[in-house]
Amino acid sequence: MDSSLPQPLAGAVSIDGARLWASLMELAEIGRTPKGGVCRLALSALDAQARRLVVAWGQAEGLRITVDAIGNIFMRRPGRDDSLLPVLTGSHIDTQPTGGKFDGNFGVLAGLEVVRSLNAHSIETEAPIEVVIWTNEEGSRFVPVMMGSGVFANAFSLESAYAARDAAGRSVQEELEAIGFRGSESPGHHPVGAYFEAHIEQGPVLEAAACTIGVVTGVLGLRWYDCTVVGMEAHAGPTPMAARQDALQVALPIMRSVVELALAHSPHGRGTVGSVQVFPNSRNVIPGSVTFSIDLRHAEPETLDAMEGALNRCIEEARRSSGLSITLKEVSAFPPSRFDPECVRLIEKASAKRGYPHMNVVSGAGHDAVYLARVAPAAMVFIPCKDGISHNEIEDARPEHLEAGCNVLLDAILARAGVSGPLR
Ligand SMILES: [Zn+2]
Repeated sequence: MDSSLPQPLAGAVSIDGARLWASLMELAEIGRTPKGGVCRLALSALDAQARRLVVAWGQAEGLRITVDAIGNIFMRRPGRDDSLLPVLTGSHIDTQPTGGKFDGNFGVLAGLEVVRSLNAHSIETEAPIEVVIWTNEEGSRFVPVMMGSGVFANAFSLESAYAARDAAGRSVQEELEAIGFRGSESPGHHPVGAYFEAHIEQGPVLEAAACTIGVVTGVLGLRWYDCTVVGMEAHAGPTPMAARQDALQVALPIMRSVVELALAHSPHGRGTVGSVQVFPNSRNVIPGSVTFSIDLRHAEPETLDAMEGALNRCIEEARRSSGLSITLKEVSAFPPSRFDPECVRLIEKASAKRGYPHMNVVSGAGHDAVYLARVAPAAMVFIPCKDGISHNEIEDARPEHLEAGCNVLLDAILARAGVSGPLR
């Protein structure tokens, strides 16, 4: 932002927490599950219904709606100088099959609430403000995750996203057309001055620290691998212990090292073996082969390299001592993402000004903001969720935390977009 623009007084206006809560609850009715969660898979009829509701709310605030070819929806509030790059804010409204009311939905409706509050107080901003709904963040029905923002940031092509199919064989392109959200705008050809995303934390750190706001400085990088150990299956009775090529027993120290590596690089190290296939998986057969997943995460690229190096040494040692074939195949990788220091500072400053207990955090989960950070200065605001649980129907967040997060979002957006003239 041009530093000559007048700066708003943080806290001079506040959002309407009750209105935000009411909209969250109304949106959560679409795809509501008996246990009080939400099932609203990307590009389903329910997703379409939810999109139309949020768009109608945007239109009621006078926002101009555009949709791009991957179905990302932009709702624009003009700036006093409409040639300035817009400050973008939003998230996603698709959910997991057993999802909650707040994951993603909070970010979109917090953006809408910021606009509603600015309208209610007749506050103009120098730069335009846009509220965005990204397509298919969850990656549950269609892979990959963060599809809309990924295409937007040119992380992968529109064609490859269109070709993704769900379990029933329906493609993203077919479903976008079926629900009427395959827009004309070319993804990524939509200028962005800065991006702010509010989100529930999806982890237990803020709640444990009794903090209202997480100032998100970045997102953990991750590397995913498949590791396969090949031994030989044999009868569990007649085969003496010394004569075995037991793939599972050789795999175990490698699995354990994944967790030990993460512990050695705390607090930001993560190591998970979440999927194990044992062949032939029979009670009285020595396992002939084992394939398992490895998920390594850390905030620093150098540390991720070091963790990978240590994993390879552990595998080499297992190979040498067992004589078995062991392969490690990388299947996916995301570098750690560091958010824009200036945008992060605005969130920190707003939290401090309003007197909200806050702390810096690094996100362990991926978000649309990761891709947006590749094309514009970006940052995120986290608020606590109950017991750190999300991707679950019991996902819960407190109204006062949602309100606080939205106020921080408001202040950061106003500071970035610039307020023209005195607040009226
Ligand atoms: Zn989310």
